[in-house]
Amino acid sequence: MHARAYATYAKDKPLEPFIVERRAVGSRDVALDILFSGICHSDIHQARSEWGPARYPMVPGHEIVGRVTQVGAQVTRLKVGDVVGVGCMVDSCRTCRSCTGGDEQFCEQSPAWTYNSTEMDRVTPTFGGYATHVVVTEHFVVKVPDGLELSTVAPLLCAGITTYTPLKEWGCTKGTRVGVVGLGGLGHMAVKLAAAMGAEVTVLSTSAKKEADARRLGAANFALSTDRGAMKKLSRGLDLIIDAVSATHDLPGLLGLLRPRGGLVMVGAPPDALYVPAFALIGGNKRLAGSSIGNMRDTQEVLDFCGKHGMGADVEVIDAVDINRAYERMLNNDVRYRFVIDAKSF
Ligand code: NAP
Ligand code: ZN
Ligand code: ZN
Repeated sequence: MHARAYATYAKDKPLEPFIVERRAVGSRDVALDILFSGICHSDIHQARSEWGPARYPMVPGHEIVGRVTQVGAQVTRLKVGDVVGVGCMVDSCRTCRSCTGGDEQFCEQSPAWTYNSTEMDRVTPTFGGYATHVVVTEHFVVKVPDGLELSTVAPLLCAGITTYTPLKEWGCTKGTRVGVVGLGGLGHMAVKLAAAMGAEVTVLSTSAKKEADARRLGAANFALSTDRGAMKKLSRGLDLIIDAVSATHDLPGLLGLLRPRGGLVMVGAPPDALYVPAFALIGGNKRLAGSSIGNMRDTQEVLDFCGKHGMGADVEVIDAVDINRAYERMLNNDVRYRFVIDAKSF
């Protein structure tokens, strides 16, 4: 099956129209017509080889919403016509301890990532969601709940699950004091999700002009992370910080905002190393952790949670021809709060 797509051929080249040949639908596969595809900052990091040498040509995109057009003979959960989502993984070994324990993202053989990766045969390259169609094994396809505007659902497949997982894992609940650093695609979902869980959310941002948005999204407090006085007032005030910044930034200052035994979870993945002196962690038994997307069970759970709360991402829908401009706008911190490509425009 031919899919119209957008690809880049090198780290310093713009994306351009491309044709992907998708595999024939196997017995456990589901074929989708893609409706919307979100643009994650990870797409930029990888398209530009910022995390190490990438595979080219690359069709990025791991926030996919589509409609099922065909199912294999052994597919049981999904049927033609269902509206579904695909995130960062399209397969895993399914037999290792992580996979059988329900954490496919930690597959000991490494999952087949949606793009910039290979299928589990380790030969066939994977191509992502900036395209009109995709074929994915059923286990890695989740159902989209009714009632949400579909363009706003796409970002839940990465930005949503990536911020939901640490909130859940760290016990975010009514009254938890959660800091969210970096109000971008991930950050704005962290604010919405934490607020919906009942947390008291503080946004820590470098952009004063985002304060009104932060409050509209559900934050009770807002502080400019460049304002030393404001940061000092928050000192030792937060139970949990979700750090969703895409570039190098000051971690010791953020760790100082944690209460004793509080934790800072890195979900942002800046290409360069960050500086952490031991004493920023020792005083107050601070915990510094990371979190990688989330497993398939939690991906379904966050979609259902958002369905129940009538909550999608804040999106700006664009046409495929505007992908390169959207990348530049994201790098200029000009996104409110996720670009989503209308797949009709490929
Ligand atoms: P984004 O929409 O571009 O948002 C990044 C935000 O970081 C910006 O809105 C900005 O917020 C802040 N920021 C940017 N440059 C900064 C700088 N130099 N100093 C301080 N703050 C800065 O990006 P995104 O799509 O949310 O992705 C964020 C990061 O998460 C990326 O590194 C991405 O690769 C990573 N990610 C990780 C996972 C995972 O599994 N862990 C999954 C998806 C994405 P303010 O204006 O509020 O300061
Ligand atoms: Zn992503
Ligand atoms: Zn595995």
